[in-house]
Amino acid sequence: PRRPIVAGNWKMNLNHLEAILLVQKLAASLTPQQLTDVETVVVPPFTDLRSVQTAIDGDKLHLVYGAQDISQYKSGAYTGEISGAMLSKLGVSYVLAGHSERREYHDEDDALVNAKVKAAFANEITPILCVGEGLVTREEGTHVAHCTNQTLAGLAGLKPEQVKQIVVAYEPVWAIGTGKTATPDDAQEVCKAIRAAIAEKYGTDVGEAVRIQYGGSVKAANIASIMAQPDVDGVLVGGASLEAGEFASIVRYRE
Ligand code: 13P
Repeated sequence: PRRPIVAGNWKMNLNHLEAILLVQKLAASLTPQQLTDVETVVVPPFTDLRSVQTAIDGDKLHLVYGAQDISQYKSGAYTGEISGAMLSKLGVSYVLAGHSERREYHDEDDALVNAKVKAAFANEITPILCVGEGLVTREEGTHVAHCTNQTLAGLAGLKPEQVKQIVVAYEPVWAIGTGKTATPDDAQEVCKAIRAAIAEKYGTDVGEAVRIQYGGSVKAANIASIMAQPDVDGVLVGGASLEAGEFASIVRYRE
């Protein structure tokens, strides 16, 4: 059985002091058992990571943290970039690769996303590979192929043992920050197809091991029906992850 994974992508919100407060509130709202049953990840901005590390490690909180992006380069003259080695030194467990906002506003294409996925593995950080179609593709009805193609392109050149560890986040762009959630059936359709595509290329055991999240306007009110889908193993939450009570309710989706 795949361990559920709920991750909160804070995007460009919360300074390091606000970050510490949110992490503490979150830990206080959830029991160690709840945090063991559902892997709970916070994904703050880079400038918050050191403070989040201190808060989590210092109090031995059962929370995990990730970063929102990673450079494809190891080091050098890349002003403004953050390397995998820097993230790994800060105890970062996960990194988002190819979030739709990076693809859209920073022109990240599949080749760059694939390089970032590889940079994560090179530093023992687990990538959360984000895929998802825009509204036009959805209306054309080619969303399934779009998402499986993005997934396989993002994973190109990886070994099956690596693919097994990865998390894929299916986030339909039209559902992000819009309040428009995909129906549980829509989420299941694409997550199932992503798993099948991975199984076909890397083997059934790899397909069965990979965890797939849904993202896009997830909140406490709709989490249960999304998590009830057999191929949805977790969620990637934006707006609703900025409030401790709401995010904790999402983590407690089974109760
Ligand atoms: P919202 O939950 O705010 O729609 O954002 C989803 C998302 O992009 C998470 O990465």
